[in-house]
Amino acid sequence: MSYLVMARKYRPMGFEEVVDQKHVTTTLVNAINSKRIAHAYLFSGPRGTGKTTVARILAKALNCDKGPTSEPCNLCSACQEINAGRSIDVFEMDAASKSRVEDIRELIIEGVKYAPVRGKYKVYIIDEVQMLSDSAFDALLKTIEEPPANVVFIFATTSPQDVPPTILSRCQRFDFKRIPFNDVVETINDISKKEDLEMEKEAVYTLARKADGSLRDCLSLLDQMIAYGGKKITKKIVDQTLGLVDQEVYFELTKIIKEKDSKKGLELLESLIDSGVDLPEFVLGLLDHLRNLLVAKAGGESEKLFDLSQHYIEKYKKEAEIFSETDLLRMIKIVADLNYTLKRTTEPRIHLEVALLKLIKMDSSVSLETLFKKLDQIGNKEEGVEYGLPEKKELSELKDRISEGNPEPEKDSNQTNQKNQNLSLENLKVGWTEVLSKVKEKKASLWSCLSQAEILSLDNGVLLLGFPNGNDFHKKQVEKKDNLKQIQEITSQIFQNDLRISFSLNDSPNNSIQKGPVFKKESIPQDIPGLKEILENLGGEIIDKKPI
Ligand SMILES: [Zn+2]
Repeated sequence: MSYLVMARKYRPMGFEEVVDQKHVTTTLVNAINSKRIAHAYLFSGPRGTGKTTVARILAKALNCDKGPTSEPCNLCSACQEINAGRSIDVFEMDAASKSRVEDIRELIIEGVKYAPVRGKYKVYIIDEVQMLSDSAFDALLKTIEEPPANVVFIFATTSPQDVPPTILSRCQRFDFKRIPFNDVVETINDISKKEDLEMEKEAVYTLARKADGSLRDCLSLLDQMIAYGGKKITKKIVDQTLGLVDQEVYFELTKIIKEKDSKKGLELLESLIDSGVDLPEFVLGLLDHLRNLLVAKAGGESEKLFDLSQHYIEKYKKEAEIFSETDLLRMIKIVADLNYTLKRTTEPRIHLEVALLKLIKMDSSVSLETLFKKLDQIGNKEEGVEYGLPEKKELSELKDRISEGNPEPEKDSNQTNQKNQNLSLENLKVGWTEVLSKVKEKKASLWSCLSQAEILSLDNGVLLLGFPNGNDFHKKQVEKKDNLKQIQEITSQIFQNDLRISFSLNDSPNNSIQKGPVFKKESIPQDIPGLKEILENLGGEIIDKKPI
């Protein structure tokens, strides 16, 4: 008996079996039932989320002997031929390999002239349609503009922004969603029951996490595990097959960082390298680990934010207590930067060691408020000058200026006036601290993401904020509809200006680590007496700025 890969064996046969794309399948079912069938559909979405599967179900729904029906029988020869990929009325092509205008002419333009052979519709499924050449799209466009009766096009794409607007505007579009973690877990559990597999709980969670929203990837990984470990799949087997580091190792590492034990840290790293761990994969795992700690720290209102088992969710919540939010953000910056460097270096080990030592040697964050209190105490006892520190009077001036949030001391302008003036980038940067603290009041988790971004430009009322490379997570969080709305409201309230906010990912390492989120080093007012000395003498760096 030949072995059928899971992805094929468990491919949904009807609309009702499709996991998690109800918004797509319900609309299609209704359209079929009310006989409103479009000539062209565009299915867009991440890989492995069911686009081709739904396309085939739609083809069956149209051509089933009982059809058009929203419940194809899967028994008639039309259904069976489509399932087996040998229907003469359903054509599937991959635009990645057939992208030329000649291909389109030969396969489609010529073909549509003839009526369907045995079914009711001719269905053309073009995968990765964005790969077609410009001339191929042009040729296709003419056919879509005046489609022959009984021809249906289904275009699938992972990158709809690369499909020409002229094509998009003639298609009925459906956006497929990344499959939520818990649903992937549920699907693995179902299949493991059917296949009589013995899977450790943590093995299921790790597999689901690695699949990253793609059911097809998840099932391929499962095939890989079975080939490697048979019917008993442990967490260890999953880690070994995928070259992953056990979650516990990351907890050990953060413990070492907290204890500031460089020796232990380097030893741990050495043992990991000796065990043949994939270093970039390890760093990504560490980034994930720190992100989990941050989410737990920020209150992680929803457990949906964690792609983890309950055991680890609890563990993260407990572990997060030993770090401050600011420390975690700084650690994430160090590791995100390392991740960037690793992609470009031939010496990964050295960079990894340096970054690890940086994490271990990193001093805990001290707020300026605490710093000033300390300085005040010194000033009260003796003259600060002896310490090479600014005199007390200068210090209090400095305090005033910083708490006013005005980096240019000469401009002692009225704040309300400022708001009504045309916004300058400089004013924006100053006021942004206020935006951040408002956001923090309302939603700490959103603040922890937004504070990672720095202001890049203000152009035609569009405020562009950049996240350091590798911070896709934060970017995605702030871009969520509700979150973006909240940020936009606070911003317009503070600046009294209807700014549109847009986010980007910076692809340069210079944008991520050395610069603080808002208060860039170069924007530290050089003429504020003593600030430089404070930073130098106390070995500090400015990572955040807030009113005191
Ligand atoms: Zn049928």
